[in-house]
Amino acid sequence: MKKIALAVHGGAGTIAKEQMTPVREKAYREALERALRNGHAVLSEGGEALEAVEAAVRVLEDSPLFNAGRGSVFNADGQHEMDASLMRGSDLAAGAVAGVQNVKNPVTLAKRVMLNSGHVLISGNGAFEFAHKQKIPLEDDQYFFDEFRYQQWKAAAGTDQVLLDHSDPERKFGTVGAVALDEHGHLAAATSTGGMTNKKWQRIGDSPLIGAGTYANDATCAVSCTGNGESFIRAVAAHDVHALMAYKGLELAEAVRIVVHEKLPPLDGDGGLIALDNRGNIVLDFNCSGMYRGRVGADGEFHTAIFK
Ligand code: ASP
Repeated sequence: MKKIALAVHGGAGTIAKEQMTPVREKAYREALERALRNGHAVLSEGGEALEAVEAAVRVLEDSPLFNAGRGSVFNADGQHEMDASLMRGSDLAAGAVAGVQNVKNPVTLAKRVMLNSGHVLISGNGAFEFAHKQKIPLEDDQYFFDEFRYQQWKAAAGTDQVLLDHSDPERKFGTVGAVALDEHGHLAAATSTGGMTNKKWQRIGDSPLIGAGTYANDATCAVSCTGNGESFIRAVAAHDVHALMAYKGLELAEAVRIVVHEKLPPLDGDGGLIALDNRGNIVLDFNCSGMYRGRVGADGEFHTAIFK
């Protein structure tokens, strides 16, 4: 059997079990499985890990359930500013966008940045101009409007409160991401987000920052993070998992445990991450009550989960 593997997440945070009706839970799990299936189809046809993570993340960006792409939260000005990044483990190539508006699939724009811009990270109006040049599909503001997220923002608008999407007791959906291992032994990671509700000053989180929210290196692992972005930046969380494996020789699960349960908590780093090593081991770990997540390994079985 080919050693291919894929994992996805749809955010982590304070997810109260009481709020999760069977209908809601089913909707999330179906969306996660759709993302897995889309990415897995790429891998099982011999495609590259980079294409698989993009394919999986696009499904989650297109779902209004998650805080990325279509379902992105509102910033302090009542607009949507999205961040995304991806990285290829074989040559450490990476691309990212920050604070982009009206782009249907920010992860695809991040891939174009990697392939066609000569840069790693571009932002704001410049990124929009680049998207236009690359003929990346755009959508008007209405496409990104979601009544629940609007109410979520209304409750915080005009205050200094900046909320992690899933810290709202009613609505806890989050940033999305994927990690993949292809049959050639290459790894890739991608992350996409609308950031935090009511964010201002063009705040940028960990998701578009290589090493913080996203990292992939064929020598060790691929990682995509979700949680309180400021803490993940300070912890250089995704790269730290790689570093613990590369420099200390730790196994993936132990490296992830140290980052998620020892390094992030003192920095108020609520959240979690998904990680995959170059042998196909998958670790999905978080230090809060839940993380929307899914995985498919060498056995081809699809698994999704929300709570511990
Ligand atoms: N990490 C994201 C950010 O800080 C938020 C999230 O994971 O939901 O922008």
